[in-house]
Amino acid sequence: MNTADNGNPDYGTVLQNQGPDWRTMISDVLNDPEIARFHKKAPNTVFDVSLGRPSWFKPRTEPLNGSKSKKGPARISLGPSAFESREMLFTVLGHELIHASHYESGSFARWAEEFEFAQNGVLYAHYISESFAYKWSSPYVRKYSLENRVSGYDAYHYNLKRLPKNFHFIQ
Ligand SMILES: [Zn+2]
Repeated sequence: MNTADNGNPDYGTVLQNQGPDWRTMISDVLNDPEIARFHKKAPNTVFDVSLGRPSWFKPRTEPLNGSKSKKGPARISLGPSAFESREMLFTVLGHELIHASHYESGSFARWAEEFEFAQNGVLYAHYISESFAYKWSSPYVRKYSLENRVSGYDAYHYNLKRLPKNFHFIQ
């Protein structure tokens, strides 16, 4: 089923539909006020769900227009691991929607441009975006005991250490 062009931004391209009721799980989590506030900032996000992906497939967010230095909506790709539990989907979707909001709002493109002088603009923008995303998701990784399933505080500190020196980030 391909719903990418039918005006439904919520589900986007669906490559496969098998296994648990992922559609119900996604709408349940998107309706959670804690997640809805991120979705509101990235309303045109396309969700690419494939439960046929390998279990090691990492959830990811990429700009739909293919350019990380141009403002625009994003695609969130999820594999089977994201649907292991409601807590897992909550943590993963919140994290990825923060990235999506950075692309759709133009923040990511702005950071990439701002730090272009270092010839590393997109890389710095990645560290900034990850710092915000992990700042939100790391406490949930701990709260839900997902340390063996997804990255948490280690990844947060890895990205924090790599922020541009003159970037003001409140930890
Ligand atoms: Zn991330």
